[in-house]
Amino acid sequence: MSASFGLFRLQQVDSRINHIEIRLAKIQEILDNDAELRDALEQVKAAEVEQHDLERAQQKSEEDAHNQQIKIQQAESSLYGGSVHNPKELQDLQADIVSLKKHLANLEERELEAMLKTETAQSALKTARANIEKTRTRLGGEHRQLLDEQSSLMRDLESLQSERRATTNEVVTELLAAYEDLRKERRGIAVAEVSENSCGACGSSLSPAIQQSARRAAQLVYCPSCGRILYAS
Ligand SMILES: [Zn+2]
Repeated sequence: MSASFGLFRLQQVDSRINHIEIRLAKIQEILDNDAELRDALEQVKAAEVEQHDLERAQQKSEEDAHNQQIKIQQAESSLYGGSVHNPKELQDLQADIVSLKKHLANLEERELEAMLKTETAQSALKTARANIEKTRTRLGGEHRQLLDEQSSLMRDLESLQSERRATTNEVVTELLAAYEDLRKERRGIAVAEVSENSCGACGSSLSPAIQQSARRAAQLVYCPSCGRILYAS
């Protein structure tokens, strides 16, 4: 058995651990990120403010129209009440009523516009509220799935770590140190399997002599190109 056999098994375990750790970090990032929900909440708040303002404007326009109607009623009761006899005064009153009614028509038009705007704002608010509910439900489902995946990955990680301890026990301390150093230098991959006469990590072709050593030698054999430990079955 070659010197690199134990390290090759260790490398396989470490690569799986590495893979799981990357996925766990990604899951945590997704769970921590509530940007989508905050956006939906902002939209609801903005729609609430808009609706509130428009309702106030509508109320104001209703009051304006109502007050105008009262003014008209007062002028009409003066006109028809019999208390005014002077023809000039009666004529003035009639002219006032015409102008008051003209203004009332304007006010009523504004009132209608305000009502339509309020209705639009109310339906926008309804949509925003429905949207946040949908977002909550969807994220809830997604998060539950992620939490399930997270606990299953944690279990895998635990068993890989005990597998790692067992594998490490079978490797000579000096070889282990060389392995750990190389892993740091070579982005996590210290051992490359020889495959189709080439280094499985960097792809450069290997001489038959090197391949033979990798298969048999008691010393570690390194890839001449990338410097990784070579393992050949
Ligand atoms: Zn290589």
